[in-house]
Amino acid sequence: MTVSDPTAKPAESADPESAVETARRQLERAATHLDVDAGIVERLRHPTSVYRVTVPLERDDGSREMYTGYRAHHDSGRGPYKGGLRYHPDVSEEECIGLSMWMTWKCAVMDIPFGGGKGGVVVDPKELSADERERLTRRFAEELRPVIGPMRDIPAPDMGTDPQTMAWFMDAYSMQEGETTPGVVTGKPPVIGGSYGREEAPGRSVGIVTREAMDYYDWDREETTVAVQGFGSVGANAARYLDDLGASVVAVSDVDGGIYDPDGLDTNDVEDHDETPGMVSGYDAPETLTNDELLELDVDVLIPAAIGNVLTAENARDVSADIIVEGANGPTTSSADEIFEERGIHVIPDIIANAGGVTVSYFEWLQDINRRKWRLERVNEELETEMLRAWNAVRKEYEARDVTWRDATYIVALERVADVHETRGLWP
Ligand code: GLU
Repeated sequence: MTVSDPTAKPAESADPESAVETARRQLERAATHLDVDAGIVERLRHPTSVYRVTVPLERDDGSREMYTGYRAHHDSGRGPYKGGLRYHPDVSEEECIGLSMWMTWKCAVMDIPFGGGKGGVVVDPKELSADERERLTRRFAEELRPVIGPMRDIPAPDMGTDPQTMAWFMDAYSMQEGETTPGVVTGKPPVIGGSYGREEAPGRSVGIVTREAMDYYDWDREETTVAVQGFGSVGANAARYLDDLGASVVAVSDVDGGIYDPDGLDTNDVEDHDETPGMVSGYDAPETLTNDELLELDVDVLIPAAIGNVLTAENARDVSADIIVEGANGPTTSSADEIFEERGIHVIPDIIANAGGVTVSYFEWLQDINRRKWRLERVNEELETEMLRAWNAVRKEYEARDVTWRDATYIVALERVADVHETRGLWP
């Protein structure tokens, strides 16, 4: 295991910028609105540490391959590091650092007692068999074992990983520790200590926050049109939630393309990308469209719920939605954000919109520690309460200051994190 130099400056890049560049700009903007010690802001621009590991894998044909894995720890002032593990060819140290910063803010906005972490392996999981994914996950868990733990750092699913990945991870950790430790990861299958409602939670919170935004602007739900990019777990659950509320979801897409029905799609009838990949573009809809066309559709609400950096300086002027609700982590670059602000398009940021995932992860961790399962109804009721609490805190800042929704959300988060650092002080 190597500890990378966490103060190293990331390479500069043009738009689309790296996750850490976007995350730092957002932090600096929020800091201008608050009276936070400059030393604390400087500390929060950097991760506490970044671990880099090499994960050897025996392929099914007997050959060996080496993969690089990371785990970035941004801040643990408020509690153990928390955040997902992604398996994706684009995983990098910088991406993990940026995503771990977002986790710190996400947990703070939700006022849950966790800090921010993120990690992953540079791999295309679709190119591995299930057995290979299992071996890779078990070895990755072992390589990370010195830096994780239920009171230290608690991973969860993210892009390219799922409840089964978390089950292997938890089993590998538990076997080595000599005791079953369900609280070491969240997002597990319910049978081994996962929470009911965890898989649906990020999409559900996107739905709840969109509902609150529609109500805030006094929109008639039945008259509201929605387009969702990415019909995986986040996008499909958000689309179905809004469809059930009466909104008209006119377009959805997956990696292969999208479908469009001006009268509204029956989102419960469209199989999501996780259920059957490729089914979205194959669905019998009046029209098809590309992912780029979907982002520019004339709808009331646009929900980018696929990957990062899809809204950039290139296409921000062509976006026609009035409100963007970020389902994915980091779908909007800083330059696109400026264009949206100038054009009066409201962007409800990822760190509140999809925070239902980590919130139900927190519920899962509590259930694991207490060895007591909650019913689905309780999970959803408590999620609703926590989302409203966070939304109201953000709304108060939005109304009190002349700022964007993103700035208001960051102000709430940064104030809470800075307060903890101010109160705890610097050691030694
Ligand atoms: N990967 C998810 C996120 O980005 C969930 C993290 C968690 O539950 O710890 O919010």
